[in-house]
Amino acid sequence: METIIGKGVCGGICFGPVYYLEHRIVGVTRQTVDDVPAELARFQRAKDAAVVQLGELYQEALPKVGAEGAAIFEVHQMMAEDLDYLEAVQAVIETQRANAEYAVTATGKNFAQLFANMDDPYMRGRAADVLDVSGRIVSELTGQPQGGIKSEVPVILAAGDLSPSETIQLDKAKILAFVTAEGSANSHTAILARTLGIPAVIQTGASLTKALHGRQAAVDGTAGVLFVEPDESVTAELRAKADEARRKKELLEELKGQTDQTLDGRVVEVFANVNHLSELPYVLQNDASGIGLFRSEFIYLDAHDYPDENEQFNIYKTVAQTLASRKVVFRTMDIGADKMIPYFNLEREENPALGLRGARLSLARPELLRTQLRALFRAASYGNVSIMFPMIAAAWEVLELKAFAERVQAELRDEGTSFGQAELGIMIETPAAALASAELAPLVDFFSVGTNDLTQYTLAVDRQNDRVDRFCDTHHPAVLKLIEMAAKAAHDAGIWIGVCGELAADLSITETLLRLGVDELSVSPAVVLELRAHVRSLDLGGAAV
Ligand code: PEP
Ligand code: MG
Repeated sequence: METIIGKGVCGGICFGPVYYLEHRIVGVTRQTVDDVPAELARFQRAKDAAVVQLGELYQEALPKVGAEGAAIFEVHQMMAEDLDYLEAVQAVIETQRANAEYAVTATGKNFAQLFANMDDPYMRGRAADVLDVSGRIVSELTGQPQGGIKSEVPVILAAGDLSPSETIQLDKAKILAFVTAEGSANSHTAILARTLGIPAVIQTGASLTKALHGRQAAVDGTAGVLFVEPDESVTAELRAKADEARRKKELLEELKGQTDQTLDGRVVEVFANVNHLSELPYVLQNDASGIGLFRSEFIYLDAHDYPDENEQFNIYKTVAQTLASRKVVFRTMDIGADKMIPYFNLEREENPALGLRGARLSLARPELLRTQLRALFRAASYGNVSIMFPMIAAAWEVLELKAFAERVQAELRDEGTSFGQAELGIMIETPAAALASAELAPLVDFFSVGTNDLTQYTLAVDRQNDRVDRFCDTHHPAVLKLIEMAAKAAHDAGIWIGVCGELAADLSITETLLRLGVDELSVSPAVVLELRAHVRSLDLGGAAV
């Protein structure tokens, strides 16, 4: 038995084979081949297989994202069959007697460079696509799957690290657990794991290698351990723990349909955070009273080009209709910082976390904000929709955003397009927003505290940098003080305040948050029932808020 220790970021126990996911076009080296015709044939077979695969992906995507969303796979198919591209790859194999992997990688990079230098932003956006296509062909050549996993059985997914876009491409039904060598507790991979209730271990370091691929293992997500070929006593211990967890879960099921209030009668809303449509069933299964944070940026991360108004509208409408009368808080796209998207062609920034992200980017790209708000207001007539702006620091930003929203509604009204009303709120995730909350609260309908960023910006601790994890004290008095200020300002102005950052799922701080005046907590669906049981066990002694 081999024990690999990391940091547990989502509890739970599972047993299964390890699947080591390698990143695209890594480790491709140049080799000289003796048999050029055989190498050309190898390339041809891999290219054909990639084209077939892309056709299958198109068919799979159609019912999920519609023809426009699935079209990207057709574009990739065309690229893989483009004559210039094929001739360029063949020329490298023939003239340099190079191996096909190298020829595809080199050609992909050259073509990407050509696209990247073009004036037309649409063509520039194709740079990422040609790299994707090349990666897919290389994966066929090397036998390493790309953009997903090829396995008949569910696996323990191991990787160096996973980017947000890689994570959302994975077939979640096939993942028993995530284990990564790097990563940080607040990364979107960790958040996704918690959303799905999948055990996850990060920061295992260099001991997590490709050599583990295919070996039987067990993960204890609470302890943060990967046991490779666990012995009998560890297996028995883990099975007992898993049984205990299952019993607890059954108990929690009993809570479904019950009101969430403390022993002294304070009603607390327990909502769920959602990143993706596919998570809606978990919201319902866990009986969350609403969605406190729908991270709309994942719609953009999921796509290969700007999602248009109707694509967005269909997604928002599905969410609103599914939740019926329950509240859904859609956050406008929070892109920038750790969530970069190639087709946005954003300029490199020295300090992206302090740069053009969230609502700042929306204000800088009004055409994108307009499309998103039109889609959101149209969806608002199908349910109980609220709209929330991220990364706010000053009142003038809120005033501009509100004026913009009013213009969008006027436009919809004038053209006779049906739309609904939505509460407008802001995230409190910069110290400035908390400190200026008395000025901000009268301008909006609600506040939602993003403790992940509020902690990062208050303590000057990069949430993506695992080397400073030790300094990331989410219970720091400075953070709690800021939440208290925002809660007081919210209640003085007669609006509600929630917490949707990861701190909302930390049961050891729930009582403190409620005493500070927090009205709503929004957590990963998998935590909803546990949090509800906890809220119902608290006695605040009638503490006034
Ligand atoms: C936060 O910052 O706490 C938050 C909820 O938003 P995100 O994690 O998506 O930045
Ligand atoms: Mg945030």
